Amino acid sequence: MSVVRYERRGPVAVVTMNRPEYRNAQNSAMTYALDEAFYRAVADDEVKVIVLAGEGAHFSAGHDIGTPQRDAHQSFDRKAGLWWDHVGKEGAESRFARESEVYLGMCRRWREIPKPMIAMVQGACIAGGLMLAWVCDLIVASEDAFFSDPVVRMGIPGVEYFAHPWAMPPRIAKEFLFTGDRMPARRAYEVGMVNRVVPRDELEAQVLALAERIAAMPRMGLALAKKAVNQAEDLQGMHAGMDSVFGLHHLAHAHNAETSADSLAGMDPRSMKAAADGS
Ligand code: ZN
Repeated sequence: MSVVRYERRGPVAVVTMNRPEYRNAQNSAMTYALDEAFYRAVADDEVKVIVLAGEGAHFSAGHDIGTPQRDAHQSFDRKAGLWWDHVGKEGAESRFARESEVYLGMCRRWREIPKPMIAMVQGACIAGGLMLAWVCDLIVASEDAFFSDPVVRMGIPGVEYFAHPWAMPPRIAKEFLFTGDRMPARRAYEVGMVNRVVPRDELEAQVLALAERIAAMPRMGLALAKKAVNQAEDLQGMHAGMDSVFGLHHLAHAHNAETSADSLAGMDPRSMKAAADGS
């Protein structure tokens, strides 16, 4: 079974993360399959808009930090940068190379895809899942959707693609990080992080209808409008800000590796859940 499904529906390419048994936790196999699917959609002249979806009850539980198919120690054919393979290196030399490629590098690459992308979010959208929603241009969430970045519990200042203070107002971003609490779809709408909140059973139809409306616009106009807004965000410091926070992120990983069981402060999905439930 493929970890990512690709379908064409008229002018819309629907790219679906397909590990529902693990709430679509993102391993590297999925990262590279997503990259391939997005490139396929960009190369297809009939495709005007890309929808990113998650199979099952949840959009994405984040990066794979504990399923049997966790593949953080494997080599892949790198696509996002020129850093060396992380495999066979130690410490920060390995972590920085890997996360530059599969997290920050891939997300930046996807944000620059010259066709509009819509995230179709239901259920959980946690940590690494946020990164996937945030690289999309629009986010449509169902009423049951929620968003959270609980990695401060690992002593880490947010996920690798640090869009937080651009995705929501800075003071809200601090609350989001400091508490690690779930932000319900309605609240995400109020703070401007999602475009629309719709009933769960209408999610797909509403996303496709929106995608088709956008698809009626000329390709070049859409690509330039997307680039215009992305450039404005970068002029507001997004690109440089993310680079500087990526350094803090890796300071935290290194501190954890020095002072605890591993670079994630010994946390796994179970202990993260237990810590959240106990608070
Ligand atoms: Zn990391």
